[in-house]
Amino acid sequence: VKKDGGNHFGFYSAESSVVWTRDQLELERELRAAIKNDELQVLFQPIVNAQSHHIARIEALVRWLHPKRGYLSPSEFLPLAEDIGQIEQLGEIVLKTSCAAAYNLLQLGYPVNVSVNVNPRQLLNKNFPQTIVQVLHDTGLPAKSLILEITESAIVNDMERVSKVLEEIKRLDILIALDDFGTGYSSLTLLRELPIDILKIDKSFVRTLDQNRNDLKIVQAIIGLGKNLGLTVIAEGVETERQVKLLLQHACYFHQGYYFSRPIPYEALYNLMQHKLLR
Ligand code: C2E
Ligand code: MG
Ligand code: MG
Ligand code: MG
Repeated sequence: VKKDGGNHFGFYSAESSVVWTRDQLELERELRAAIKNDELQVLFQPIVNAQSHHIARIEALVRWLHPKRGYLSPSEFLPLAEDIGQIEQLGEIVLKTSCAAAYNLLQLGYPVNVSVNVNPRQLLNKNFPQTIVQVLHDTGLPAKSLILEITESAIVNDMERVSKVLEEIKRLDILIALDDFGTGYSSLTLLRELPIDILKIDKSFVRTLDQNRNDLKIVQAIIGLGKNLGLTVIAEGVETERQVKLLLQHACYFHQGYYFSRPIPYEALYNLMQHKLLR
């Protein structure tokens, strides 16, 4: 959280109830306006086939360019969007923008699958599949080019509802990725109960892969688990060549992280796609 001249916002008390400061109320008003006026930006981070160095897919990551505070990261405004009941609207904007971007690239001769993060609130809404159908129709993107990334232990409490919505989404030919795998937010229960296609190893394990024997063993086990279940395994937060090598040694071929590229705007992504190879 940025601090400018004593301004601060969005801190939580020990009981995790929001402490409402004047700044917080102002930020809330500004976020509503930003969502309404389409002031959110979507960046794209390549997910690379680390053997061929081709871009295999892209992940959409939302940013808010605040007039005074500058770029805010999702952790700085997504909780607020949830609090003010705007997370579904925000999600729909990101979905539209992401599908439109992937469709543009497809039209330009660079077909690429786009992965979009979804909040549990979206998955709990039985109209979500219909929203997706509408967005695909409006943007022209084929359903098979879309991947949804899910997390959150909150889902576990309402597994039946979420699983119904996801089954419907799967019937549309859309793939589902389980994000942040190995953290408390993505449990084995989700893997067992939900129709998952892709496993994303959380970056906390990848970060210390080359320093910590246990993390290497955990990553090895996750890769094995994913493969045994017939899933595609992606490593998140890959920053060093050594990490790339270790992951390849253990047969994890899809890598996402600063080593290959940070999240970048559409135009920069288009430039990258034209060069075909990363690094
Ligand atoms: P995530 O879906 O796990 O996305 C990966 C995060 O790791 C991104 O953070 C990305 O910028 C960061 N990252 C990528 N490579 C590296 C690396 O090599 N090193 C390090 N240290 N970090 C790396 P970001 O963009 O801040 O997003 C944070 C989280 O916010 C996302 O985690 C996702 O859970 C959520 N999020 C982002 N955009 C959206 C959205 O449009 N909708 C929803 N519901 N959630 C979103
Ligand atoms: Mg994600
Ligand atoms: Mg993740
Ligand atoms: Mg996450």
